[in-house]
Formats: sequence, C-alpha cells, structure tokens
Amino acid sequence: MVDKPFIQHIDQNHIWHPFTQAATASQPLAIKRAEGAYYYDYEDKPYLDLIASWWVNIHGHGHPQLVKALYDQAKALDHILFAGFTHLPAAQLTKTLLDIAGAPFSRVFFSDNGSTAIEVALKMAYQYWQNLGQKRMRFLGLQHAYHGDTWGAMMVGQTSNFFHAYQPFPLMVDTLPVPEYFHDCKDIEIKEAQALDQLETLLKTHGHDYAAFIVEPLMLGAGGMKHYRTTFLAQVIACVRAYGILVIFDEIMTGFGRLGTYFAFQQLHQQYQPDIICCSKGLTGGLIPLAVTLTHETLFQAFWHNEFSKTFIHGHSYTANPIACHLAVTSLTLLAAGIPNFAPLYKRLFMPLYEENLISKLRIIGNIVAFDINLPDNNYGTHYSQTLRHRFLESGLILRPLGNTIYLMPPYVITEEQLTSAATTIKKILCNI
Ligand SMILES: *Cc1c(COP(=O)(O)O)cnc(C)c1O
Repeated sequence: MVDKPFIQHIDQNHIWHPFTQAATASQPLAIKRAEGAYYYDYEDKPYLDLIASWWVNIHGHGHPQLVKALYDQAKALDHILFAGFTHLPAAQLTKTLLDIAGAPFSRVFFSDNGSTAIEVALKMAYQYWQNLGQKRMRFLGLQHAYHGDTWGAMMVGQTSNFFHAYQPFPLMVDTLPVPEYFHDCKDIEIKEAQALDQLETLLKTHGHDYAAFIVEPLMLGAGGMKHYRTTFLAQVIACVRAYGILVIFDEIMTGFGRLGTYFAFQQLHQQYQPDIICCSKGLTGGLIPLAVTLTHETLFQAFWHNEFSKTFIHGHSYTANPIACHLAVTSLTLLAAGIPNFAPLYKRLFMPLYEENLISKLRIIGNIVAFDINLPDNNYGTHYSQTLRHRFLESGLILRPLGNTIYLMPPYVITEEQLTSAATTIKKILCNI
C-alpha cells in the first residue's frame, strides 16, 4: 500500500496536529475508512470508537441516510452567504431545534464549531448589557471548565490547565469550585455548601458586574468528565438570577442525548432554564462542522434598533452552510427514533471494577461512563495517559484518557456485545498497567 508511507512522510514533515507535542508524541495512526462504531487502518485492523471521534459522532460512521443527505444537499444547494439570504435547510433546522428546546427559546444564531458558538454567546451577553446602557464586564464560571480554544472561549475556560502560555488574560473571569459527585461520594453537601458560600461572596462584590454565568451543565467534559448535581446547578442559577446575570449553558458536549436527554438543561426545572445554549459536536451527527447558539426573545429584542451600533456584528463565511444544516435535520430525525440508555449496561460492566478497587470515582450519567485510575502523574498529555492510550489502541480500542480519567462516550449504534468486550479489554489493561 503506497498511500500509507506517503501519509506518514507528509504528516511527519508538514502537518501540525491539534493538542499534540510533536517532540514526544508517537506517529499518528493513519485511518483508511470507518463504518458503524469502527475505524479501520491500512492493514484493515478494526478499532472500536469509544469516544465518538472527540464526541461528535452519534449515529455511527458512514450512516447511509446521512451520507445521502450530504450528497443530495450538495447537489441542490451547496452554499450561500447567510447575510441577505436564507434557505430551507436553515429554516427546517431552526424549527426542529426550537421544537426540541421548547419555550422560551425562539432565536437561533449559526456558526461553525463549538468555540465559535461560545464566542457568539459571550459577545451576545456582553453586548446585551451594552445595548441596555449597562457596563457588565465580568464573567462567572466553574473551575476546570473548558469552552473551546478561541480567545474568548479560552478566557472563560482559563482554569482548565490548558492555557498557561496565554496568561494573564484581559477578560475578567471568576470561577467557583466544582463539587464533584460520583458513586459512594461522601461529603457532597459540604462541598456544595462551600461552593455556594464562595458564590455568595463573589456576588456581594461583583454581582452587578457579571454579564453572564457560563457553565457546562451537569458534566465538565475536557476538565475530566467531572459530574455535579442538578440541585447544585439549580441553586447557583437561582443565586445569579437574583443579580440579573444571564445564564449560558455550554451544551456542546452534553447535547443530543449524551446525558440521556436531548439537552442537559431539560433535566432542570423550567425555572432554571438558561438564557443562551451553545451546541455543536453531535449536531450534524459528526460528519461536518456546524454550531448553533440559541436564545430567547428578550435577549434578541435588546439588539432590535434603528442604530447599527446595536447590531450583533458577528458572522462566519460558512454561517448556516446548507449541507451542514440539512445533515443536522437528518441526524435529528434519526435521533427522534429514541435516545439510548447505556446506564444500566455501564453499571453492570464497570461496577465490578469499582468493587475490585481497580477504579475510583465511578460516574455514570446517561450515555457517558467515567472513572479515575491511580496513576503517578494525573495531568493531561503526560507519559502515563499516553502509555494507556497506546495500550488501548494496540488492543483495538479508541480511548483518550484525560489525565487519570478514563471515559466512554461511544456512538449510539454501538452494541451491547461490543461494549461488553471493550470492558473486558479495559479491565485486562488496567490490571497490567
Ligand atoms: C469541544 C467543546 C468545546 C469546543 O468545541 P470545538 O468544536 O472543539 O471548538 C466547547 N465546549 C465544550 C463543553 C466542549 O466539549
């Protein structure tokens, strides 16, 4: 096979990979094709995709209906700028998303990826206050939050440990500790009360300076799949709302069934719903990028004015790309057949590992299972997490530990058999690390 050496040569000499230290990373694996829950390399060796290719894939790879949707839409209308023009796929997707999200959401702003959906949300919140004649220049968030890599997203995620090189940041962001919740967690009430105390202190000083509170609802993704309780989030929202602070939910990871419901916010009572939701990742089923930022009429109306200065000046070349929108509509139609529930299976497969003390901090939320293992060094990208990743890969599993946290977030087409066999392999590897 001549393609493989060609890829390797070009890759090694000319490609700059994301989140990768080229000096120490091993050669990336060249993948030739994908089908269902599997990837295949150039030797036709299968790899089970247990992380949905960075959390984007929900229906499996090469889904015939999605592939057809891509082709059909490309033939009918491939792209059109979205200022001064509109089209059916965008209208259909807007209607579908608003039907799922329900009231009060009434407006959809399109962009290309998770980070841009966050930039849109942050800028909307910031300018909302400007347009109302108020200066609110701070943001509030959670520690270890991750909201993307563009400048604004990075600033609200500055405690994620990824961005030391860019400090200090010009945007004022305060963060609350996350009271982590997991199986057999003992002191949760104390941790929650401490976090709420800190919140109260921050709000007393800066309550009217915060434009928005931004949060990954119920589960912090890249920060280590840290889960916290719905009741805690509801309490925080009630506190920040008392100061008029807007609430932004970053549902980029949690959206489209990952936590068992379409959106995580649907697990909260109506009164704790956010003002803005950001979605991307699973939106198109994982074939091509697309993102949306949803909000309600009150926020939209603050931009409704004869003066151009009140306009939301934001847009991207590929805003609301028709192919991406049509794919998203098709993906959501497939999802309407039912969001799976892997939780009982995860429990059966991973509780024994917990009972044998092989893993700790087991958390199973909807279709995500995560647990920690005891490694000498727990940071992202360190020697041990890389070693583990390679062990998994050798055994035909695609997993990407976050430091000492291992998690599974597979495409929904994965079978019980495939998950069971993966759990056996994981156990074997953990026993021999
Ligand atoms: C992945 C992710 C982002 C960033 O999305 P990109 O498409 O990678 O820019 C933001 N927030 C959360 C919670 C994410 O998981």
